[in-house]
Amino acid sequence: MEKMYTLPKLPYDYRSLAPYISEDQLTLHHTKHHQAYVTGANALLEKFDKARKEKTDFDVKATSKELSFHIGGNRLHALFWKNLAPAGNGGGGLPKGDLAKAIDAEFGGFDRFRREFSTAATSVEGSGWAALSYCNESGRLLMMQIEKHNMNTFPGYPLLMVLDVWEHAYYLDYRNDRAKFVEAFWNIVNWDEVGKRLAGAVKK
Ligand code: MN
Repeated sequence: MEKMYTLPKLPYDYRSLAPYISEDQLTLHHTKHHQAYVTGANALLEKFDKARKEKTDFDVKATSKELSFHIGGNRLHALFWKNLAPAGNGGGGLPKGDLAKAIDAEFGGFDRFRREFSTAATSVEGSGWAALSYCNESGRLLMMQIEKHNMNTFPGYPLLMVLDVWEHAYYLDYRNDRAKFVEAFWNIVNWDEVGKRLAGAVKK
């Protein structure tokens, strides 16, 4: 184990989420933006190693904040790519099985869930994420609206489905129309993956 972060490969081709996310948009997002969080986290790890080896100090408070930003960015993007799939080829449609049952039980139906998740995504102030999480203590699905990559999170609650609503996620395709991007997202949700994450979270 190299004890460093690496950019995960996408589970599909850069062209395959079009027209909902274009090849240019996806390439830029993955190879530049996601890569920047990986690079940022690794730079901090190197800084820790160097300071500990040379027995010098670093700003613990400032680096903690930076580290949560970069690690949060890396982890959320990794989850995001995997909860997407090409439309009609694993992406879109409706949730099935236990995931569908859990959504119905919590939200009273898929349409209500979709509306709440979309609202969480469109109303994030500035840069952030909408996320669906699962709480083992209450056995409930909880909506999370994450600011930046690391604020407003429930520590330790597994994330079942995430949607990136930073401008860098959609600006090439939708300019400033975030709501249009959020609508498009529903065509490329990988419900099987979201269902697997729920099953894994419930088991724990
Ligand atoms: Mn992003």
